[in-house]
Amino acid sequence: MPDEIALRLDRATAEDLYAALYETGEHVAAGAAITPPTAGEAERLGRFLRDLGHTLGRRCSPSCDHL
Ligand SMILES: [Zn+2]
Repeated sequence: MPDEIALRLDRATAEDLYAALYETGEHVAAGAAITPPTAGEAERLGRFLRDLGHTLGRRCSPSCDHL
């Protein structure tokens, strides 16, 4: 695939991501409540979003120098 990206996730982050996407889908499809993340889940998902953003060429903050 010419324009692919690859991310490696630890199991906890993968589980958090699955749950977040699943709950978002159920929320959009049927109005189900979204469970607020625990502090650990929020931290792992935040790191995931930062890393994915960097992989896509996006800055994580105005002063980002990770790219
Ligand atoms: Zn950054």
